[in-house]
Amino acid sequence: MAPKSLTPEEALQRRWGYSAFKPLQRKAVEAALSGRDCLVVLPTGGGKSLCYQLPAAMGRGLVLVVSPLIALMDDQVAAAREAGVAADSLHSNLESGRRGEAYRRLAAGKTEILYVSPERLLMGDLLEDLAPRLVLAAVDEAHCVSHWGHEFRPEYRRLAEILERVPKAARMALTATATPAVQEDVCAQLALRDPARFIGHPDRANLIYRAFPRRDQLSQVLSVLRRHPGEGGIVYAQTRKDVERLAGAIAAEGISCAPYHAGLPAEDRRRAQDDFVNERLDVVAATIAFGMGIDRSNVRCVLHANTPRSVEHYQQESGRAGRDGLPAECVLLFAASDLAAHRGLALKDGPLAPERQRALERQLRDIGRYGVAPVCRHRLLAEHFGAAYPPDGKEHQEGGCQACDVCLGETKSLPAEEAMLTAKKVLSGAWRAEGRFGTGYVVNLLLGRADERMRRGGHDALQVFGILKESGEAAVRSWIDQLIVQGFLEVAEEREYPLLRITETGKTLCRNEGSVRLGVPAPPAARAKRKPKALRAVSAGVPVDEDLFDRLRRLRRLIADKTGVPPYVVFHDSALVEMAALKPLTLDALRQVKGVGERKLERYGAAFLDVIAGTPPESAATTLKN
Ligand code: ADP
Repeated sequence: MAPKSLTPEEALQRRWGYSAFKPLQRKAVEAALSGRDCLVVLPTGGGKSLCYQLPAAMGRGLVLVVSPLIALMDDQVAAAREAGVAADSLHSNLESGRRGEAYRRLAAGKTEILYVSPERLLMGDLLEDLAPRLVLAAVDEAHCVSHWGHEFRPEYRRLAEILERVPKAARMALTATATPAVQEDVCAQLALRDPARFIGHPDRANLIYRAFPRRDQLSQVLSVLRRHPGEGGIVYAQTRKDVERLAGAIAAEGISCAPYHAGLPAEDRRRAQDDFVNERLDVVAATIAFGMGIDRSNVRCVLHANTPRSVEHYQQESGRAGRDGLPAECVLLFAASDLAAHRGLALKDGPLAPERQRALERQLRDIGRYGVAPVCRHRLLAEHFGAAYPPDGKEHQEGGCQACDVCLGETKSLPAEEAMLTAKKVLSGAWRAEGRFGTGYVVNLLLGRADERMRRGGHDALQVFGILKESGEAAVRSWIDQLIVQGFLEVAEEREYPLLRITETGKTLCRNEGSVRLGVPAPPAARAKRKPKALRAVSAGVPVDEDLFDRLRRLRRLIADKTGVPPYVVFHDSALVEMAALKPLTLDALRQVKGVGERKLERYGAAFLDVIAGTPPESAATTLKN
């Protein structure tokens, strides 16, 4: 094992094989080393774990990590051990033999980092033993402490009280998604003492965001998945029934896919999760029950077949794509009816208190706007979390981020005048239908498709009849959704079915007061069919040998099977991509690849060099040291 008196940079290089810190990591490490409390908000993939693992690796004392993700702890321990840090965990899922070992190592003062579940810590007996050596108490997923957050956990509220017993240890609260209000709440609830705040920019530059109106859910889902053959993907759907239907239909297309939702037997869920993490399964179709415990870093697409509940949920769920920093794609299929379904669910037990009701409406409005506004989606997300976009204070370049459907020209914004004219046509259709009909009726009216009911009411003689015939049903439906989200139309659930109505603001707009934005999805044929530039090249501009990449991936799978850790713990895709481009031939050259630390070099280096030199992965794997 490496000597203890390392500088942070040396520890980073030797243990993890990284030559530079990611933004704010160094500051967080420094705060921890100097005993200062801090709040760390970094997006997924921003490198939060290193902020507390590194002080542990520097041998300054014991680091305690409180994490609600029991399912992940084993992987985190494995990953820390791969970097040569003496890691253990204590939680209710641990088998007794391993628990005994963990206690023995702890008592012998050998443990450098200890992961515990909040429940385990709250039992209260641990801290007496830990106190003398404890230098840092890190609370991961710290947004769980806040009512304002999206995953409130009551047991987190008691953490401050228990941490009082180790006043000398610095506290570090970490989270990926926190609006400024949640950040405040986290500091207060965890009783951080004059904390340093390290708030990273929330943007995930490697993600391509797309939001399209939902038309034919299955074919839209399939067209995204087909862009990612053999790669990891998650398809989120609203209900268990949707999940089953989609999983079946995706699998029927020959794509390796399993369903996951809370109604399935525990054994099926465990297998789906295990297979996905270990890359034996490409796609999981799931409700949002799936994902909390998933750390697979090479998920290349996250697709929402239904609109999520809030932007926070969307950021969290879509954030599971591309943790390794390589390009990945997040697609949302939007329908305003999903928002009505969320509202219905929230209100199913009766009306909410006014404050909660307002919060709900705000959440639905924000995610609705994200789903339809013809505005750069990276910008919308950043601004939602209180950050400016682009991150570095530069002007938005011509062509925008080049990483969302709007900036890529797949969704076009109508020029202001045309948007106004179009909106007025749609609104007058709804106005003339007098709020007595559903969306389908108004769509037919605008498209000039008369049925018996319409003729009886004389609506086929109205001026608005067929006024948007040329635009087609998909566009008209999408415009109605866009106008709902902007508050010009509303859906009223008065009778047994929802009725579409013009609002007062909508009437005002018809008098040319106010402004409106409308987007139109470009026809599918015009959209980018190309695969995201995932494995095309690495930073040095050297082309990646994709065939070699596949062989390296096979070797990684064999090693993972042999050692019982997930493939991404052995090496991330980013390290394999770099190997497949630079093709290092010596251990020294291999050491230069990002993510190759001393321990991994020693254990796996020779096998990877063999494969780079042309040995089949299956033979290379036989030479591995245990
Ligand atoms: P988070 O918990 O913030 O989502 P992780 O701690 O899982 O992020 O780190 C994301 C990825 O970035 C991991 O693969 C990690 O090994 C890698 N990483 C962390 N720090 C660095 C660094 N300084 N340079 C390069 N890669 C890093």
